[in-house]
Amino acid sequence: MFNKVLIANRGEIALRIQRACRELGIPTVAVHSTADAEAMHVRLADESVCIGPPAARDSYLNVPAILSAAAITGADAIHPGYGFLSENAAFADMVDAHGLTFIGPTAAHIRMMGDKIAAKSAMAGLGVPLVPGSAGAVADMDEAIKVAERIGYPVLIKAAAGGGGRGMKVASSPDGLEEAWRVARTEARTAFGNDAVYIEKYLDRPRHIELQVMADNHGNVVHFGERDCSLQRRHQKILEEAGSPALAPAQREAIGETVTSALKTLGYRNAGTIEFLYQDGQFSFIEMNTRLQVEHPVTEMLCGVDLVREQIRIAAGQPLGYSQQDVTFTGHAIECRINAEDPETFMPTPGRVTAFHAPGGLGVRVDSALYAGYMVPPYYDSMVAKLIVHAPDRAQAIARMARALAEFAVLGIKTTLPLHQRIMADKTFQSGDYTIHWLERFVAGN
Ligand code: ADP
Repeated sequence: MFNKVLIANRGEIALRIQRACRELGIPTVAVHSTADAEAMHVRLADESVCIGPPAARDSYLNVPAILSAAAITGADAIHPGYGFLSENAAFADMVDAHGLTFIGPTAAHIRMMGDKIAAKSAMAGLGVPLVPGSAGAVADMDEAIKVAERIGYPVLIKAAAGGGGRGMKVASSPDGLEEAWRVARTEARTAFGNDAVYIEKYLDRPRHIELQVMADNHGNVVHFGERDCSLQRRHQKILEEAGSPALAPAQREAIGETVTSALKTLGYRNAGTIEFLYQDGQFSFIEMNTRLQVEHPVTEMLCGVDLVREQIRIAAGQPLGYSQQDVTFTGHAIECRINAEDPETFMPTPGRVTAFHAPGGLGVRVDSALYAGYMVPPYYDSMVAKLIVHAPDRAQAIARMARALAEFAVLGIKTTLPLHQRIMADKTFQSGDYTIHWLERFVAGN
């Protein structure tokens, strides 16, 4: 096992990883920007190192500073969390080259899945169903027109290097294709420095359903069921459930078998999430995330597993603590992402938290780095808390979430707590019959 783990992240996920390390008896090193000197992940760490000024590119993305922090403190492994350097293959390579362990997949797999075109062709080769679309990158307008005619409008132009819902444009007719193509390429070039784009059929009423997988270095691959992340705004997840209200256990088993056998062939290791769109009973692969996901707690609650503990154990060379038969799915779990944003306009609301009271009670979990007096900095992602509930069934989970949201007090800044209260009270949400387009209409008031 590792002697010391450096956590190359901040906020709630840094705390989440710290907690798993502490339970395994491993000391941790926190890294932080000057803006985060008073942050909870620094306060609770065994050691901390300041790695630069507030801007993420100078601190949480500052590879030399992070590697130096590991060297100075004698850490022998690095957990990247999510975001920042978690899907940066060059960083994983450098961690390796410095004789440290990257707690995650191999750099080769990160690289493969980071290029969505390569990811799709790898998955297709392994028998995983795809969204109909172009076979690879689409070079010019002529080819774009041909692909769109073959698969039929509407189509979606997507960036090969895309992420965070950016670089995606819909064209509903040949007239709109040129404009969508131009905007998607420009956005891809500015956001990702790579203007390669591909085309997919734009599905009109899918759900977003993803599978959590964990693989060790001994050839064991196990899935921990699905998460339904259909509640999105601007292609960004707002609320997640496990299991999906749309899937029966037999469907979970079938898609679980497809992905575990694909990843076994691939020789994948550590945590991974295979994302699908699900419509008319069909799963269509869209991308794979080679890291721990924000929404991993709903799976942990459903299966009674500590996924971060498993990640660390696997990276240390230990075999997975679970076989597929050991994985059980009990009750229902829901996670609400609480953002420091205006619940009407979604404008970020950094500032001083004057009072903080987290909900509690049976089946309630709060993953957050907030505290009374904390100053939410304007430099990073606006998510400040995750409220997760677990209950015997979905209806009870909704009632529990509504109750917990009502107890949750974050004063001094506006948050999206009221939006989640409105969602819990909504009949369509309660019915479970919603698609990826539902929330956007709900927040627009229709
Ligand atoms: P990113 O990496 O930017 O998150 P994804 O490929 O994972 O991009 O897609 C993000 C979201 O965009 C999906 O969850 C879904 O809501 C929407 N989306 C992606 N592909 C399609 C498609 N072919 N049809 C309809 N919606 C899509």
